Amino acid sequence: MSEGKNKKKEHYCSTCKEPFHFQMHRSWFVKYGLFFLPIRKYFCARCQKAVYILVQNVKNEG
Ligand SMILES: [Zn+2]
Repeated sequence: MSEGKNKKKEHYCSTCKEPFHFQMHRSWFVKYGLFFLPIRKYFCARCQKAVYILVQNVKNEG
């Protein structure tokens, strides 16, 4: 089985519309307080700010 292209879902900054380059480690609050939510923390280098992104669980891929 070949995976072909790297089909990683990218998330974009809502402010500058640039794709995030860094994924940050979630804080303990997000990890334990919002563990039931698929939240990821990204850092936008252009806006110089961290953004929380709600990621949808895509189970039926391909
Ligand atoms: Zn941005």
